[in-house]
This record gives sequence, structure tokens and C-alpha cells, in this order.
Amino acid sequence: QAGLYLVATPIGTARDITLRALDLLASADALVAEDTRSLRHLMMIHGVPLDGRKVIAYHDHSKPASRAGIVALIAGGRSVAYASEAGTPLIADPGYHLVRDVLAAGFSVTSAPGPSAAINAMALAGLPTDRFLFLGFLPNKSKARREALKPFVDLPVSVILYESPKRVAALLDDLSAVAGGDRPVALCREMTKRFEQVRRGTVADVAQTVQDDPPRGECVLIVGPGEAREVDEADLEAALRAELVNNSL
Ligand code: SAM
Repeated sequence: QAGLYLVATPIGTARDITLRALDLLASADALVAEDTRSLRHLMMIHGVPLDGRKVIAYHDHSKPASRAGIVALIAGGRSVAYASEAGTPLIADPGYHLVRDVLAAGFSVTSAPGPSAAINAMALAGLPTDRFLFLGFLPNKSKARREALKPFVDLPVSVILYESPKRVAALLDDLSAVAGGDRPVALCREMTKRFEQVRRGTVADVAQTVQDDPPRGECVLIVGPGEAREVDEADLEAALRAELVNNSL
């Protein structure tokens, strides 16, 4: 059936793909990917033939014409499967502008859910999961990172952060400055891969392990809830609005 199908792909272990994702990759009229090589590789591992279909490259920074081309395929009655490089499309990955344009043109968007590093880390952290907030990647510079953390660290919710292993030490340093060294955190590294590791403890404990044994590979940091017992709706709304404005620039 015509429409856009968002296909979640594994975050480390190829067998973490869902059967429905494989069905969609096998049956879609057109295949679109953030990284065409990784999608072709994943399909090869699972024995899903390309059958003459090309894999079209797409990134949110791609020219608007490439998005229009994908919408035109759907308008022409085609089913289009889209996968980002790993995990769930649109979660700290491209796809938002594509989804928006497909919806604006009046076509259907559906998804084959699957792995996401954010949810996997939340489940592994051993920290409260009843309320959590995803902040994705924070700015690279320390001052901007502290400013980005401040509105959220005292909220009574766990916070999910993506970070490059090179900057984990600096991130923990900034977290210690804005939330204190005794805040519980979990550093989840290389999840679902051979060297998966979760370092749990206070910010100070985990910072010490990072100094002694710098983490390699992909990392998610989960920060335990702050002290505020109630969410101040006005503060939260102001902070979320500021984030939205920053991200839509
Ligand atoms: N769309 C993906 C998802 O659903 O999780 C996220 C893509 S984002 C560009 C890549 C970041 O996700 C990495 O820098 C890391 O923070 C996190 N990540 C992805 N795979 C991971 C893994 N296996 N272990 C730990 N973190 C991972």
C-alpha cells in the first residue's frame, strides 16, 4: 500500500531486526536510507534481495528536491521504506522533514518499531523509568552544555543523553557542576554488542571510572531524577519551548 514506512534497524546486533521490518524491506517498492551501504549490508545479512531496487540516499539536509522526489513516488502509488543508519528513524536521526512533508501531502506514514538506544539504555540503567526525558545530543561546548542541562536536571524525571565517547568525561564534569557529584547515573556503552557495558553509580564514581578506563564505542548516559517533587509546568513549558526554538533553527 502506498505510503512511507519507517523501519527501525538494530543498534548493534543484526538479529535485533523485527520480522515485520524484514517483510517491509522485502516488499517496499522503493528503499530509502540515511546510509545506503548499511541498509544494503543489513538486507544482505538477512537474505532480503534488492530485486533490482536502488537504495536512495536521504538525509534531512538533502536538497528539498530529493524529499519532493520521495513524496512523488508515494503520490504515484508506491510504498517507500525508510531506515536511518541505526535504531529508530527520527530519534536523533534524520527523517523528521520527510515525515512532515509526506503528512502535509496527505499520505500515510506508519512505522515498524524496533530498537532505540534511548529506550534500551533506560531499561538497563537501574534508574526510575516511570517518567523520563530525552535530550539527545547536547551542544559540544561546555558552557552551552551546562546551559542546556540546567532547566532539566532538577526535574523529577530521568534524563536520557546521547554522547560521543570523547566527550563523556566533559559531560560528567558539567553534570557534576549543575546537578552535583552524588547524582546517580548509568553510562551505557556498546549496547547489544560484544563489549556491552553499563557503569552505574554517582556522577563522581562514574567520572572516576571514565578517567581510569576511558570508554570506547557508542554511549548513552542516563541521569537519575532530580529533587523537585513536582514538575513546575510553567518552567517545563518555558524550557521545552526554548529547546524547540533552538532545534528548529
Ligand atoms: N536513531 C538511533 C536510536 O534510535 O537510538 C540513534 C542515532 S544517534 C545518531 C547515535 C547515538 O545513539 C550514538 O552516538 C549513541 O549515543 C547512541 N547509540 C546508538 N547505538 C548505541 C549502542 N549500541 N550503544 C550505546 N549507545 C548507542
